[in-house]
Amino acid sequence: MDKSSQSTVVVIGGGPAGLTAAYELQKRSDAYKPVVFEGSSLVGGIARTESHKGYRFDIGGHRFFTKVPEVEEMWQEVLGDDFITRPRQSRIYYRGRYFDYPLKIFNALTNIGAYESMRIIVSYLKWQVRPYKNEESFEEWVINRFGGRLYMHFFRSYTEKVWGINPKEIRADWAAQRIKNLSLFKAIWNAISGANDTTSLIEEFQYPRLGPGMMWEKTQDLIDQNGGDVQMRSEVTKVYRDGNHVTAVDVRRWSEAGEDLGTERVEGEHFINSMALRDLIHAFDPPPPPEVVEAANKLKYRDFLIVTLVLDQADPFPDNWIYIHSPQVKVGRIQNFSAWSPEMVPDPNTASIGMEYFCQKGDGLWNSTDAELRELAGQELEELGLSTHEHVVDAAIIRQPKAYPVYDGEYQEALTVIKGWIETLDNFQTVGRNGLHRYNNQDHSMLSAMFAARNILGAKHDLWSVNVERSYHEEFQVKKDSDSSKASSRPSVIAA
Ligand SMILES: Cc1cc2nc3c(=O)[nH]c(=O)nc-3n(C[C@H](O)[C@H](O)[C@H](O)COP(=O)(O)OP(=O)(O)OC[C@H]3O[C@@H](n4cnc5c(N)ncnc54)[C@H](O)[C@@H]3O)c2cc1C
Repeated sequence: MDKSSQSTVVVIGGGPAGLTAAYELQKRSDAYKPVVFEGSSLVGGIARTESHKGYRFDIGGHRFFTKVPEVEEMWQEVLGDDFITRPRQSRIYYRGRYFDYPLKIFNALTNIGAYESMRIIVSYLKWQVRPYKNEESFEEWVINRFGGRLYMHFFRSYTEKVWGINPKEIRADWAAQRIKNLSLFKAIWNAISGANDTTSLIEEFQYPRLGPGMMWEKTQDLIDQNGGDVQMRSEVTKVYRDGNHVTAVDVRRWSEAGEDLGTERVEGEHFINSMALRDLIHAFDPPPPPEVVEAANKLKYRDFLIVTLVLDQADPFPDNWIYIHSPQVKVGRIQNFSAWSPEMVPDPNTASIGMEYFCQKGDGLWNSTDAELRELAGQELEELGLSTHEHVVDAAIIRQPKAYPVYDGEYQEALTVIKGWIETLDNFQTVGRNGLHRYNNQDHSMLSAMFAARNILGAKHDLWSVNVERSYHEEFQVKKDSDSSKASSRPSVIAA
């Protein structure tokens, strides 16, 4: 098709969702030219790979696992041989001890002790007999299924770290989405049997050899090669509409040095958004009705920062990552990037350790200086017995706003209002994780984007139902599935 007669599809955001929408559109039709505007200097969004003096690291380790065939297909198409299969090892640190994860019965019993194990069982039975009648909060949902004692050990402190609020304030639907298929019986059976009820004993996962950003850098190249356009350092600041028809966006650009290059208005025939819903609603001109703006103001996010420490020693521990439940330290999870891919580290005699902190923009952690964060992370690594402070020779710190959409008591009602209004727009769709305010991994972020592209071509997919109906999450999937060797699918008692 003559390129000049292509219609423009404006895509907001060059993360997994935005890039997938552009890629899918090009794969299925040459009648459209996707133009992706990415506000930052890197593609991949939260799934990007940052680098510092040759050390590559994720914003939290990003495994590639999915039960969605078309997502798997796109990963293979784009990455091919650059996908490597990695052995998985992870543990939980709690009460001064390391628990194998997924839990193994003898290791767990030894660590917890016979007396406490009995108390867990008694508590479980008690809650089976007299459960909470209305399961509204995360806490109630978990206690009804696992008992109060197990909740206290393996859910409460970590959940508090991740969300920064009392688990009583988190809606049960978060638990239902993340740990739907798991029961105590299944967890114990898997711990005893070594998860023999599934074919996925193989503890391994897929990972791009240079980190998840590699997937998105390659996708960006393919989009550009096929006549699309991915524009970096281009932030969409306004979305113009004429009634229920979106007409254009304002794009503010700046140079690599941070110099403002001005704002341009770009028109399009269709629009696909992946920026956070709250920001999106505020970007509309004219603004949506006041109740929609009010609903957007109710959406909340949890922020995140990672302190990647370079150590002058080879890997101090074998795990890919370790969950840190103990409330004595602030770190929530620790990544060992060379265990993800040896190519993430330029010198095998050194290690790259990502200390992950869940936080809130503006709180003490977020506002700490980089030097303070390096000091804290070094100290905590030592306190956990994983290395010593003296081994830390360098550090890189990345602060990630809006890492997690919060499922609190208000979000669902707010989403219904926002969704209702966005659906009145005839050429505008919103996709992805924060674009739908849904706790989506890459695969569901991508699937919603694929659906949006297909809708432009005439399909009628409901983007809001992606990852709602399917009882899906890798950590908690227990059904037999021949495809599941791609991901460890033992159930677990952690949800983050
Ligand atoms: C700690 C952590 C660990 C995770 N681990 C995994 C994992 O193991 N496996 C997995 O599959 N998923 C994982 N995820 C989830 C995964 O990161 C997300 O599902 C995915 O990144 C969502 O893609 P997205 O494109 O919807 O959004 P994002 O990744 O948020 O991308 C949105 C993009 O839009 C850009 N943008 C925002 N506003 C504008 C604007 N106004 N104009 C232009 N550009 C804009 C942003 O800069 C960003 O690049 C993890 C997430 C976190 C926080």
